Amino acid sequence: MGQVDMNMALSNPDQTPNDAAEDTLDEKHRILADVFGFSGFRPGQAEIIDTLLAGDCTLAVMPTGAGKSLCFQVPALALGGLTIVVSPLLALMQDQVSALQLAGVRAETINSAKDRGENVEIWRRVATGDVSILYLSPERLMTDRMLTALAQLPISLIAVDEAHCISQWGPAFRPEYSDLSRLRDLFPGIPMVALTATADEVTRRDIAGRLFGPDAKIFVQGFDRPNIQLAVTFKADWKQQTLDFVDKHQGESGIVYCLSRKKTDETAALLQANGISALPYHAGMEKWQRDGNQDRFMREDGIVMVATIAFGMGIDKPDVRYVLHTDLPGSMEAYYQEFGRAGRDGSPAQALMLYGLGDIRMRRQFIEQEGGGEDRRRQEHKRLDALLAYCEAPQCRRQTLLAYFSEDKAACGNCDLCLDTTPAVDGTHLALLALAAVRDTGQRFGASHIVDVLCGANNEKVRKFNHNRLDSHGSGKGRGKPEWQSILRQLVAGGYLELDVEGYGGMAIALRGQAILRDEETFPYRPDATPQAKAKGNARRATKTANPAAGEEQNLSERDLDLLGALKALRSTLSKARNVPAYVVFSDRSLADMAQQRPTSVAEFANIHGVGQAKLKKFAAQFMVVISEHNQ
Ligand code: ADP
Ligand code: ZN
Repeated sequence: MGQVDMNMALSNPDQTPNDAAEDTLDEKHRILADVFGFSGFRPGQAEIIDTLLAGDCTLAVMPTGAGKSLCFQVPALALGGLTIVVSPLLALMQDQVSALQLAGVRAETINSAKDRGENVEIWRRVATGDVSILYLSPERLMTDRMLTALAQLPISLIAVDEAHCISQWGPAFRPEYSDLSRLRDLFPGIPMVALTATADEVTRRDIAGRLFGPDAKIFVQGFDRPNIQLAVTFKADWKQQTLDFVDKHQGESGIVYCLSRKKTDETAALLQANGISALPYHAGMEKWQRDGNQDRFMREDGIVMVATIAFGMGIDKPDVRYVLHTDLPGSMEAYYQEFGRAGRDGSPAQALMLYGLGDIRMRRQFIEQEGGGEDRRRQEHKRLDALLAYCEAPQCRRQTLLAYFSEDKAACGNCDLCLDTTPAVDGTHLALLALAAVRDTGQRFGASHIVDVLCGANNEKVRKFNHNRLDSHGSGKGRGKPEWQSILRQLVAGGYLELDVEGYGGMAIALRGQAILRDEETFPYRPDATPQAKAKGNARRATKTANPAAGEEQNLSERDLDLLGALKALRSTLSKARNVPAYVVFSDRSLADMAQQRPTSVAEFANIHGVGQAKLKKFAAQFMVVISEHNQ
């Protein structure tokens, strides 16, 4: 049943208004299943929807991928009439409208990317009540002409997406959003919802205050992205590590972040040379080229975008399966935003970061060069320390991440540390050896020289400084160079050693290290962090947890994967013919569900995740042909 019938149910004259209100509350589940093909609400969605159905205004703060759109799309259909959605980015509006239309919802957008004739025709349909959800930019909505025209229509709900744009506190303030604070008086009594993924306490109150007044309800869903598996690995041979990782994700959409434009180009070329559909993206490229690459990434299956952080603003692709950082990101906030582009659809995704001592040095250098006052620099160094603490977290990485955002959480079971069975050991005796070597060499040499001294190397530099005569020379002979490198890195990240901020890489003993020398501190050490041990660990893990998404498991056999490939090919043909992104036709999870369930009747197909009534009619037959061919 589509939304047409549901609207009819609401206008049934036999029902009293109260019956209707109760029905609309139950109706949300029916709409979820019939229109969107989903079996349950995600955390937070139902409460927000109920609030709107009860006629109240609310601000919803939910992380990326939590499913904010559904929070206004479902009530829009349940309430009938016209829902206005304010959204700042034309491209995103168009994609959402296409997705809704394929689900059988009468959604439209009027915007400057369309020609006048088209906009006029759409407006005619809006005016005659033939459109349920209308997407508009804030500047188009807030013209006197538009507001006067809308006042004649049965507006039932107003949704303001990316609501942080209204706050001058936020980093994305848009002057055109300010005007939206007039909506409350222009449409009194009409429920409004504002949605955002990024808003701290102050910004939240600011947004709610501007749009709704001081005592609006605010829902906060928390920062966790449980379906994204978190991992950090020591950078050894980053090219090989990148290749290995991307190779393991054949055919999947992913983002590989690099620090510099040059490295971005190099990495894209490296992946291409290895048969991977990789495209570069950075601010040094011609705009047409950059836009072309982004467009292919959005629309096609399995493209790997190799990019600087110039890439990502407003990227709303739900089926990005991984984000790999080949360099240390700028801060915890930046990292959270960047890896958060993976797994918006709730299916399993991975975030892996590679980092080494060189990265730490470089970041410290950046901070020094950026200038600003002494205070600001100290603060920036502190922020970097928080990120390093994440890299060298002693237990659950997600706990460390969420603690940074002031959230408490039990061990997650879906990060490299939780999945790793080797515990941290007491490494105080190792720390003592390393610290002694740093002290004895005068606290001015870099990691590689200290490692040489510890391992008893007899090279020119060691002889030149008479370091072969030190007690420390050869004191760590029992362990290899990679292990000592890892120990030094963990000592730096843990705040026992510090790198000189001028950026030459010289190491000095920090306060915490001095405490170790005085026997007042200990050093928890993770032997597993050396690359060799890590590689073994990864292999072990891969078999243990093939696809550990939070509650959305999909274990596909070889045969299923084969079918999945064929289903993806069909999806690609269909999406190209309609000129919409592939995921708008069906999500990855829907295809995986088909490959596993192998429905052979319309009734069975209706049970597939993401299949509502409209998509059932449009697509079931074609996909079932592929499935039955594959079954033979
Ligand atoms: P956000 O705007 O919060 O980043 P979206 O609204 O784009 O998230 O939703 C992310 C993805 O999750 C979309 O692909 C959407 O179809 C899917 N989704 C949303 N709600 C549900 C649900 N209740 N069950 C299954 N999938 C859902
Ligand atoms: Zn964990």
